[in-house]
Amino acid sequence: MPIIVQKFGGSSVATPEKILAAARKAIRAKQEGNQVVMVVSAMGDTTDDLIDLANRITDKPPAREMDMLLSTGEQQSCALMAIAISSLGHKAVSLTGAQIGVKTDATFRKARIKSIETARLKKLLDEGNIIIAAGFQGIDDDFNITTLGRGGSDTTAVALAAVLRADACEIYTDVDGVYTTDPRVIPEARRVSRISYDEMLELASLGAGVMHSRSIEFGKKFDTPIHVRSSFTDVPGTMIVTEPERPDMPVCGAAITKDEARITVQGIPDKPGTSLEIFSRIAARNISVDMIVQNVGESGKADISFTVPKNELDASLDAVREGVKLVGAGTITSDDNVAKVSVVGLGMARQTGVAEKMFRALATAGINIGMITTSEIKISVLVPRDQSQQALRVVHSSFELEKAPTTPIKPWMPKHIGTDAAAVVARLQGLNMEDLTIDDVSLDSTQARVTILGVPDTPGIAAKVFEEVAAAGIFVDMIVQSYPTTEALATLSFTVPQEQLEHSVTVAKKVAASLACRGVTNSPKIAKLSVSGVGLRTHTGVAIRMFRSLAEAGINLDLINTSEVRVNVVVDGAQGEKGLKQLQTAFADVLR
Ligand code: ADP
Ligand code: ASP
Ligand code: MG
Repeated sequence: MPIIVQKFGGSSVATPEKILAAARKAIRAKQEGNQVVMVVSAMGDTTDDLIDLANRITDKPPAREMDMLLSTGEQQSCALMAIAISSLGHKAVSLTGAQIGVKTDATFRKARIKSIETARLKKLLDEGNIIIAAGFQGIDDDFNITTLGRGGSDTTAVALAAVLRADACEIYTDVDGVYTTDPRVIPEARRVSRISYDEMLELASLGAGVMHSRSIEFGKKFDTPIHVRSSFTDVPGTMIVTEPERPDMPVCGAAITKDEARITVQGIPDKPGTSLEIFSRIAARNISVDMIVQNVGESGKADISFTVPKNELDASLDAVREGVKLVGAGTITSDDNVAKVSVVGLGMARQTGVAEKMFRALATAGINIGMITTSEIKISVLVPRDQSQQALRVVHSSFELEKAPTTPIKPWMPKHIGTDAAAVVARLQGLNMEDLTIDDVSLDSTQARVTILGVPDTPGIAAKVFEEVAAAGIFVDMIVQSYPTTEALATLSFTVPQEQLEHSVTVAKKVAASLACRGVTNSPKIAKLSVSGVGLRTHTGVAIRMFRSLAEAGINLDLINTSEVRVNVVVDGAQGEKGLKQLQTAFADVLR
């Protein structure tokens, strides 16, 4: 019999009436011939309220006790759901994370799932029960209750769907699908019929709160289709699957992370291993870093800037201070009034002019870009928080994301995966479910770097540069703009195919002169080393492992960019082969 997992978020179980409505959906699915597992979140704002309660006692509650407390929210709603289902005359059993056997590591408040036992679930299903699982929670090896991080019930649901080889994982929520951006912020956003795992993973990790990003890692790893849809209507929502809705479109969505903070360390020695001292200390605190930009400044000193979640700024600064002390030099500054706006799309890897369009929209709105980083499928900019909503709006409309596609969308065909257990079991063997998996370590030696120095910190510069570059028919891969440090000047680097270098330098010199930049340098042969896999940014250790192995070989990093599916570093062209060997060795144990 097909298995179906249905997850109901907090607003979908906020009242007894809504619990009954959700119960009816599950009963209907059962009557249609499915075995049904429900996953429920805590009712309404219960989790927030519990956090407030603890904070009224102390601002530093022990993480273990917070998990003990927060897990009670889901325990309430799953019991109530079972009561609702039995009141409607059907068999139901509620189970906590511990009762299911959701085993996690011991990182309280952000635990990762190691394994889930299925025997008891299958027996209860075979006996005709609807199972109601408490989302967001598990237990560690010592039977401590753990939670998976805010929004983690999505991850429970997709993980259960994966281990049970469910035919569908339905995420019922208060929107009727995934939109091109948060419809509460930009009402003209469009609901998409389908989005790829890679795009959703990136959007979720860049701020699209509709799905917990780690749930998409499961979807991708275990090939589990996810259907995001409304709790309150029956209209089909958005399928998250392998194939994008429109492979020909450069951008599928935009996202905002409002609560970012920037940290800059100026004047650290420019030699292998220095950034490692800093980032390894941040990773040790399990904080994910984004928008890493590094810049060689005057007299062999480098500047590094990066962003962290605003609520982790203090802990990150502690880590940075430790690192700076060890490397012996460096001035630290930070800013917690910034936000990150990003566009995402699988199609942008094959198109020119995407960055230019985004930068022009921001320039026209008079919004200054503090930092820029890109990856193959996303572009992120750092902007002042008070302008970030406007930034999202102008970027969204510049790509006309609100408009429905005019050409037909290739249909996505559901496949029956209930019996195809062998492949999954093989992938799970010897692994923890949320363990890192790396698909590839690769080297691209075809590119060159152009760097514009002394870029004024005013709106419109990046737009002008990339308009000229695109007009010249130059294909840009990475773009990195540093945070302006010395005399409010930034550094803007980009990579181009080697055969277009000469042309690129000519164009760059021309724009640099017209914009009163200090000058242009280049590197005719660079090596781009990449590690690709699933969930690379949330696994804070991946970039660190890369940095460490390259530092050990004495290889200096020029540029860095990260996404959920890939971490790239640029090193000197002559070091490419050596770097590749280093990385192959460093990741040998996790390469699949
Ligand atoms: P639940 O409690 O059901 O898990 P969430 O509040 O976590 O619900 O997620 C749903 C919310 O996500 C929506 O109400 C919407 O405001 C927000 N959201 C953010 N980005 C997007 C997006 N791209 N598409 C749809 N909703 C989004
Ligand atoms: N109740 C938890 C939270 O509010 C988990 C979830 O809803 O997914 O974060
Ligand atoms: Mg949610």
